[in-house]
Amino acid sequence: MTSLFPALRGATADRPALRFGDRSLTYAQLAAATGALAGRLARYDRVAVWATAELETAVAVVAALEAGVAAVPLNPKSGEKELGHILNDSAPVLLLVPPGAELPAAVGDLERVDIDVHGTGGTAPDSAAQDGDPALVVYTSGTTGPPKGAVLPRRAIATTLDALADAWQWTSDDILVHGLPLFHVHGLVLGILGPLRRGGSVRHLGRFSTDGVARELNAGATMLFGVPTMYHRIAETLATDPELVKALGGARLLVSGSAALPVHDHERITATTGRRVIERYGMTETLMNTSVRADGEPRAGTVGVPLPGVELRLVEEDGSPITSYDGETVGEIQVRGPNLFTEYLNRPDATVAAFTADGWFRTGDMAVRDADGYVRIVGRKATDLIKSGGYKIGAGEIENALLEHPGVREAAVTGEPDPDLGERIVAWIVPENPQSPPALDELADHVAARLAPHKRPRVVHHLAALPRNDMGKIMKRALHG
Ligand code: ATP
Ligand code: MG
Repeated sequence: MTSLFPALRGATADRPALRFGDRSLTYAQLAAATGALAGRLARYDRVAVWATAELETAVAVVAALEAGVAAVPLNPKSGEKELGHILNDSAPVLLLVPPGAELPAAVGDLERVDIDVHGTGGTAPDSAAQDGDPALVVYTSGTTGPPKGAVLPRRAIATTLDALADAWQWTSDDILVHGLPLFHVHGLVLGILGPLRRGGSVRHLGRFSTDGVARELNAGATMLFGVPTMYHRIAETLATDPELVKALGGARLLVSGSAALPVHDHERITATTGRRVIERYGMTETLMNTSVRADGEPRAGTVGVPLPGVELRLVEEDGSPITSYDGETVGEIQVRGPNLFTEYLNRPDATVAAFTADGWFRTGDMAVRDADGYVRIVGRKATDLIKSGGYKIGAGEIENALLEHPGVREAAVTGEPDPDLGERIVAWIVPENPQSPPALDELADHVAARLAPHKRPRVVHHLAALPRNDMGKIMKRALHG
């Protein structure tokens, strides 16, 4: 088996690999700790990891991958019900935990092993793991239903990380600022395994803060990975924080993903720092599919072009592929390539339904494509495509238009049944000032003036906050109650 992390064995021994707060490991120390732990794991086939945002999680997952054992990262903040579902579904043989972690009752009497980040004395076993063997079982974010366990082969991880390295000119000189949780693809695969595969390093903030981002970027870090809610906080803070402006201005790469980056936030960041944010599009099931390239033209509102090795097409409702891209015809994104998962754990029905007969994965995301190949995501087929008055309307562009209204802080758009229109457009607004929220007529005129009259909301609800999951994604299924 080839290691996914050549730097663990290379000439990079003294280089920094990971830093979480005031604890850090060089490549030599990481190789020792993961070697010691890997030796204990080699006889199992699937282990769970209590994936706190700490050094232990990184060590445990790398050790499992070195041993050829599949790791299941668990969200330590899951409710008992979700955790019970995931443990029951994934049936790990043991649970790797940071020493002293408090575990909830749902963990039951599953065997626990403390993760020692300073372990020594083992050597990574000579495992017979193959490219197609499972490396990770990652549960989807649960935005549209109960989380499903996507089985990701070693090949998918290697392919996606190498494709991103090509697109982002990502090297061993890069130092990543990281403020994301470690139980999803974004924080774990891109944010931890990515820098380690390149031989570069990670500085994890523990918890995201604009101060932490400014401090690390001004102290030599080169890249920032974030979700749109983080870029929103950054956009809000820039006006009053010259250190943050300097930090972003000096970064080599600012990357956003996991949900659509509102155009309004992107434009505010560019206006103050002169920098563009690079958007990439991926899923738990597919790892990364597209990205704006570091050497390409960044355009607000697009997720760029397919990554090397990824085949991507847009398909009409009747299943026929769209053959000429005009930037207007909406289709479902389907992808094929070595970056894909192999199956949903214990869900053969869902796995079969997710693929076409010729092996394309149906993402459930709707998009248009510009003539030069740039993909623009319109939204999810299930929740973001509103069929109103004979039109197919994407929620995303209406949300972007609403966010440009000075009285709107956050916005989500959905459809609800309407006897005349089929569906009518509903806006869910967090007002800038709850005492004087913008009225329906005003918002409807604002949208009609920017987009088109048939895209104006017919109903507006004012909320104190939008329901979001741990990645900051809006849970639209919670809005209609
Ligand atoms: P579940 O599948 O459990 O309902 P989820 O789809 O949110 O949850 P993930 O696999 O974490 O779980 O997220 C993938 C989805 O996130 C994509 O299908 C897409 O809808 C959205 N997404 C990711 N990146 C972007 C992006 N740059 N722009 C718009 N949407 C994005
Ligand atoms: Mg999904």
